[in-house]
Amino acid sequence: MDRVKELRGGSAQGDRVVYWMQASQRSECNHALEHAVELSNNTGKPLEVLFVIDPGYPSANRRSFTFMIQGLQDVADRLSERGIAFSVRQGDMMTEVMEHVAGAAALVMDQGYLRHQIRWYEQILESTEIPVWQAEDNVVVPVSMASQKEEWSAATLRRRITPLIDENMVSAPERELRSRSDRIWDEGYAWKGVDEYLDSLDMTGPLPSTQHKGGQNEASKRLKRFLDERLYRYAEKRNEPSGQWTSDLSPYLHFGQISPLTIAGEVSGRIGSEVFLEELIVRRELAVNFVTYNPSYDGFECLPDWAVKTLDEHRDDHRDYTYSLQELEKGETHDVYWNAAQSEMLATGKMHNYMRMYLGKKILEWSETPEKAYEAAITLNDRYELDGRDPNGYAGVAWCFGKHDRPWKERGIFGKVRYMNAKGLERKFFMPAYVELAISYLQDAENNGDRPRA
Ligand SMILES: Cc1cc2nc3c(=O)[nH]c(=O)nc-3n(C[C@H](O)[C@H](O)[C@H](O)COP(=O)(O)OP(=O)(O)OC[C@H]3O[C@@H](n4cnc5c(N)ncnc54)[C@H](O)[C@@H]3O)c2cc1C
Repeated sequence: MDRVKELRGGSAQGDRVVYWMQASQRSECNHALEHAVELSNNTGKPLEVLFVIDPGYPSANRRSFTFMIQGLQDVADRLSERGIAFSVRQGDMMTEVMEHVAGAAALVMDQGYLRHQIRWYEQILESTEIPVWQAEDNVVVPVSMASQKEEWSAATLRRRITPLIDENMVSAPERELRSRSDRIWDEGYAWKGVDEYLDSLDMTGPLPSTQHKGGQNEASKRLKRFLDERLYRYAEKRNEPSGQWTSDLSPYLHFGQISPLTIAGEVSGRIGSEVFLEELIVRRELAVNFVTYNPSYDGFECLPDWAVKTLDEHRDDHRDYTYSLQELEKGETHDVYWNAAQSEMLATGKMHNYMRMYLGKKILEWSETPEKAYEAAITLNDRYELDGRDPNGYAGVAWCFGKHDRPWKERGIFGKVRYMNAKGLERKFFMPAYVELAISYLQDAENNGDRPRA
C-alpha cells in the first residue's frame, strides 16, 4: 500500500499545486511535500506550501503556539533554500484553506487523526472539485493497513503491525523542484517574532516551555543526543522519573516536526532499539488506532465495558481526599510526588511518562466521580503538555482508567482498574531526586520571569 493516496483524481486545470501543511510541520522526510514537488514538476505548475495559523484551534495556547511557530521558522528557511514558495496565513483553518485552493490545479494534504482534522478533510472533498492527494506519513505503518478495527491492546496490535514494519520503512528523500520561487511568507502574514506575534493575537495560557524549543532542527539535535547518549540504556532506565533517559521527542512528533520514519530508521539495529521501537511504533500507533476507530476517544464512554462497570460499582466508595480541577491544577495536593509531577508539567510542558501514569491514577482516586476525573485528566494534559491534544494523550488518559489494560484485583474506588501508589514509586525509584528536579524546573521558569504555577 502506498502511503500517498489519490482521494480524487482529475486533470490539473488551475494555476498552481498547493501543499496544505498541517500535521507534518517539517521539510524533511515529508511524503506530502515531496509528492507535491513531483506534481509540480510533472504538470509544470508552480508549487506553493500553505500553512494556516488558526488561533481558534482546539486548546490553542501560548505555550503550544510558541513551539509551533518556532518550528515554522525552520520550515521557512529550508523551503526558501529549496526555492519553494511558503504562504503562512492567519485565520479560521477551513476559510483560509478554501480561499487559498480556489483556482489551484491540485491539493496535497498530510494527515492527522483527530475528529476535527478528519472533518476538515471531508469538508475539503465536499467543497472543492480539484484533484486531492493525501500522504499518511506521521505513522510508520498506515493505520488501515495495520488494522481495520479498534484493537483491544498493545498485544493484539503488535501481532498485526510487526510483520508490516520493514516494508513500510520508506523515507521521503528530497526531490528537486524545477520551477523555483523566491516567495516566502504571504502578504497576509506579517512576521514579527514569536512573542510580538502572539501578543498581537492576545494568545494566553501557559507560558512557553523553559526546556523545549520547537522545530525540526532542534528535533534532529534531540534525536542525535538520544542515539549517542541515551538509547543504549533506554531499556533499563526509561522509567526512572529523574533519570532523563528518554528521547524527549514527543512534542516534535506531535507537531510533525520530525517523522517517526526518520526516528525509527536511525534507531533500528542499535542496542536498545527493540524496547524503544515498541514505544514509538506499537504504543504510539495503538493510540492512533484508538482515535481512528473509537469516536469517543476523549470521553469516559471510550472505556471498555468491564472498566465502566467496575468504576460505576465503586463510585460511592469513600475518598480520603477530593480535589477540584482548579485545586489539582495548582499542584498543591497532600502528595509531594504528585505535586512534583504537576510542577514538571507546568514549568516544562513535558512530564515524564511514569509520572503521567501516576498523575492520572491519582486524579481518579481523588475526584468526586470517575467522569469528573476523566475530564480533569484530559483538560490538564491538553492544556499544559506540549505533546497534548494528541492521540497519545487520549490513549494515555484512557489507559489510566483501564483502556488497553486488563482487570486487576478489586479494591476501593478503582474497582478492577489497575492501582498505583506512592509506595510503589519509592520502591522502584529514588523519588527525592525527582522532587528536586521538579523544583529546579520551577526555579528556572521563575528566573525566566515566568510564573508557571496555575
Ligand atoms: C496519562 C498519560 C498521558 C499521556 N499524554 C501524552 C500526550 O499527550 N502526548 C504524547 O505524545 N504522549 C503522551 N503519553 C505517552 C508518554 O507519556 C509520552 O509519549 C512520553 O512520555 C514522551 O516522552 P519521550 O518522547 O521522551 O518518550 P520516549 O520514551 O523517548 O518514547 C519515544 C516516543 O514513543 C512514543 N511513546 C512513548 N511512550 C508511549 C506511550 N506510553 N504511549 C504511546 N506512545 C508512547 C512517543 O511518541 C514518544 O515520543 C501519555 C501517557 C499517559 C500515561
